[in-house]
Amino acid sequence: MAMHRHDVLVIGAGNGGLATAARLVRRGCLDVGLVEPSPRHVYKPLQNYVGLGLAHARELSRPQAHLVPDEVAWHRRAAVRIDPRSRVVTLEDGSEVAGADVVVATGARIDWDALPGAAAALRRGLAVTTFDDAVLERTWQRIRDLRRGAAVFTLHAQPASGRETAMKPLLLACDHWRREGVLDAIDVSLVHDEPVLHPVPEIEAEWRRHLVAAGVRVRLATRVVGIEGDEVLLETASGATRERVELLHLLPPYAAAEVVAASGLDGPGTRGFVDVDPETLRHRAHPRIWGIGDAAHLGDARTGGALRRQTRIVVENVRRARAGEPLERYDGYTVAPVATGGGRLSFAEYDRSLALRRTLPVRARDEVRAHRAWYLLDRHVLPRLYWHGIVRGRA
Ligand SMILES: Cc1cc2nc3c(=O)[nH]c(=O)nc-3n(C[C@H](O)[C@H](O)[C@H](O)COP(=O)(O)OP(=O)(O)OC[C@H]3O[C@@H](n4cnc5c(N)ncnc54)[C@H](O)[C@@H]3O)c2cc1C
Repeated sequence: MAMHRHDVLVIGAGNGGLATAARLVRRGCLDVGLVEPSPRHVYKPLQNYVGLGLAHARELSRPQAHLVPDEVAWHRRAAVRIDPRSRVVTLEDGSEVAGADVVVATGARIDWDALPGAAAALRRGLAVTTFDDAVLERTWQRIRDLRRGAAVFTLHAQPASGRETAMKPLLLACDHWRREGVLDAIDVSLVHDEPVLHPVPEIEAEWRRHLVAAGVRVRLATRVVGIEGDEVLLETASGATRERVELLHLLPPYAAAEVVAASGLDGPGTRGFVDVDPETLRHRAHPRIWGIGDAAHLGDARTGGALRRQTRIVVENVRRARAGEPLERYDGYTVAPVATGGGRLSFAEYDRSLALRRTLPVRARDEVRAHRAWYLLDRHVLPRLYWHGIVRGRA
């Protein structure tokens, strides 16, 4: 059978790829291809609520077949190689498909092998995480049942998907333990491998306010390097230590999809992620290849909030590049929504220059300061907007 060359071929149908494909159709692109092996589409932000008993697992996912627009040709296989010059993409069954332009949206994958002992600790239930949808029930069970001892939560520098939202399980767990009357009996600490908690001072101050109120010890420049039995191995500038813990909540190590480096689409210092110009989202060496979302080397802009901007810009830039017009610029806009307990949430928005941004159509209130309205938005409004607007290319 002859290989089909689509006008635009999108690789990956997560938040970014699906929204891009749908947006292309809405903008009148007549031949959009989508490469995605998974029959299930997950709305990841809800994982932090399911893993803390605040949402039901059935709210998390929908069949991909209900979401891919009829006008889009869905190739239900993984891409194993993208030829950067011809833009011919080889799929796992050996078949080929191509795009005049190719948008790489293959996300970031959890790489438990990068943390010695993590996979075994997850199996035993010592380690838990809201970041892996396969262990959410266990995560809630372990947090719900903890009554005393040491609980360590981790945060780390990029790469990670929705990195800053790892503060949600920490503060929501403290909220639960406070309501159960056991918080004082649990020694809760946050271990973060960076020297500052957050680079935006207003966000850092708000996070600290809640961490202090919950009695959480913050240990910066401290890295979890392994787990042995009930002990977590920590590394700081002054040396290595090991500590016994009752519960370890991990922000997992992340890696790029293998297809990126296998196709030579990574670059120096991108750690296997797509080497794009962070302003135009265009590949630095291959002008008809584009990268968005968690797959792209875009710093902290690995969030759904960031993707709402990126998908609009990449669709526009494919058109502008073809028309020879100047490309639209992405300012690195991203979000850091952190539920702080008591039905409140800090909804911070900032850009590459670390300046706070405000895009919500509500002007009166400080967004960084935790408020009930932001919790309702994050927990109840955004999931609906996601299924009915964002992945349909409408929001
Ligand atoms: C626990 C958690 C909570 C989060 N909370 C928030 C939040 O509150 N707010 C927020 O804005 N963001 C949040 N995020 C981040 C947000 O969910 C991600 O940034 C977003 O899902 C990234 O979308 P993506 O399309 O880049 O990648 P993904 O959604 O991961 O999609 C990538 C897709 O590519 C496919 N794929 C991979 N390899 C291949 C291949 N070789 N061939 C074809 N297809 C492939 C995968 O199957 C997948 O469907 C959170 C993330 C997590 C994990």
